[in-house]
Amino acid sequence: MTWLDLPADHPFGLAHLPYGVFSTVADPAPRVGVRIGDLVLDAARAAAATGYAAGAAWATPSLNAFLGQGTTAWAAGRAWLTQVLNDAAYQHAVQPHLLPLDAVTLHLPITVGDYVDYYASAHHARNVGMIFRPDSPALPVNWKHLPIGYHGRSGTVVVSGTPFHRPCGQRKGPQDPVPVYGPSVRLDIEAELGYVVGGATSMGERISVDEAGEHLFGVVLLNDWSARDIQAWEYVPLGPYLGKSFCTSISAWVTPMAALQSARVDLPRDEADPEVLPYLRGTGTGVQGSGGAAFGLDVHLEVRLNGEVVSRPEYRDMYWSPAQMLAHMTVNGASVGDGDLFGSGTISGPEKGQRGSFLELSWGGQEPFELADGSSRSYLQDGDEVAITAWAPGPDGTRIDLGDVSGRVRPPR
Ligand code: MN
Repeated sequence: MTWLDLPADHPFGLAHLPYGVFSTVADPAPRVGVRIGDLVLDAARAAAATGYAAGAAWATPSLNAFLGQGTTAWAAGRAWLTQVLNDAAYQHAVQPHLLPLDAVTLHLPITVGDYVDYYASAHHARNVGMIFRPDSPALPVNWKHLPIGYHGRSGTVVVSGTPFHRPCGQRKGPQDPVPVYGPSVRLDIEAELGYVVGGATSMGERISVDEAGEHLFGVVLLNDWSARDIQAWEYVPLGPYLGKSFCTSISAWVTPMAALQSARVDLPRDEADPEVLPYLRGTGTGVQGSGGAAFGLDVHLEVRLNGEVVSRPEYRDMYWSPAQMLAHMTVNGASVGDGDLFGSGTISGPEKGQRGSFLELSWGGQEPFELADGSSRSYLQDGDEVAITAWAPGPDGTRIDLGDVSGRVRPPR
């Protein structure tokens, strides 16, 4: 029983406890907070008030210091939070450090180190293959053997609610005789989960699938804004570049992996799928590489355009586990740092209403999708706002909400 006035089934209840970074008008120094119900706990001050010395890592403007302390500290921090928010003996010390959510400003929760984006949905990869490369196999030949990814731009990762200008760039459509420069006319979204990494490693070290849990701190919602016209012209042969690097949005709250235990599911595999190489398997996993350390997640997303739901992707359809993505990222000896971030890739399901990008929803612009007001849409217009929300099963039939990531398109400049 908690001393907080909090319904047992609140989606930001005691089973969740996501971390973020906030400030207030009275105290504008950004610092780590923990969301509980519709309140934010000023974590470092509450820790000081109860004599929890390790909480000093939270008196900083990002989660990076805490991420650097590793899994033992993450578990201890979560245990301390659970104790002081439950045990009435701590109410007197802790309550003064709880602030109303609507009285705080939320900031980017991590100082983003290296940023990688994957491509882990078979449905998304097939759809994109059919749209971009109609004369080639829909799924690239390497796709079921390794999680395909690219390095993105960490400096343009922004917190939910940050607007951005429509990007300009170079494009050349099939009918254009020469390339042209100007604002993107095929601005798109990609609904994804992002994984926040901690427990930095050194060059030459590898993180195995089994060890990945020691480095996977938590999950954010991620929108990988994408300019499809810029992307289509530039991406061969080295992959996404300026079509992606202008803005990537993440949610303000980082849901710890520890809060997603009830959401773990096996990866989707069938008999025809190739067995992956040993470094992508992990122990306790089946011959197809599913289950155990290489887990999937039962996360249900909703994508809204100007308030209207346009897609409901299901994360459990994703082929590759975050543990496999981290193992693959480091198998060559590449190090990871505290605050590294990697995206799952666009989450798309087998149904049209589960596609996580407008590229797929409008099939490359050939089949514009209908909106409630009777208009139809292929790509984003200036002024559009896209918001992505998600929920996952919590313990005992409860739900946890993964916060939200939103952003609005400003005209080009
Ligand atoms: Mn992406």
